[in-house]
Amino acid sequence: MKPIGVLAVQGDFAMHQSALHRLGLASKEVRTTEELDLVDRLIIPGGESTTVGLLLDRFRLGDAIKSRVASGMPIWGTCMGMIMLAKQVEGRDQYSLGLLDITVRRNAFGRQIHSFEIEIPFSPLKESVLGVFIRAPVVTRVGEGVQTLSVLQEQVVAVQSGRVLATSFHPELTDDVRIHKWFAQLPTA
Ligand code: GLN
Repeated sequence: MKPIGVLAVQGDFAMHQSALHRLGLASKEVRTTEELDLVDRLIIPGGESTTVGLLLDRFRLGDAIKSRVASGMPIWGTCMGMIMLAKQVEGRDQYSLGLLDITVRRNAFGRQIHSFEIEIPFSPLKESVLGVFIRAPVVTRVGEGVQTLSVLQEQVVAVQSGRVLATSFHPELTDDVRIHKWFAQLPTA
């Protein structure tokens, strides 16, 4: 089994690596197309979506990620990673991979609540998880073939379409590695 890639151009990639390490799974930082070739699934961490979008576009890593996902590589975006996977970002013309037919609203929980933690359902586990939200996006449009996995205050905060998964929250910032474990078991093509 190849290591799990964690996109490491910016953001909290080290926390994902430590969650994978706790599960006994090997991970690899991905910054180049050559490094992407060495992994069989990819996590896009939290961070700053405008910065990461510019870098993915400039170094053509975005195109390489899109073609790997088209040939069956599982991918999971947390927070900024969700924005990066979305087809549309509300009110902005910023680079994204467009791998999930969703529209997202950035920083959707308002200025007063920059970050908070709350128990939320996560349907694949049939149990709730602790959601850590940090200037988090929400999904405002769920396209055809996209399943909603978590809802908080009537806002969609986790979705999946086949091997593409996105969560507004940050499981890597908790002690709970169940979602990492579930993602690591999604079949590759
Ligand atoms: N607010 C950030 C953005 O829009 C995402 C925040 C995060 O990833 N924690 O890019």
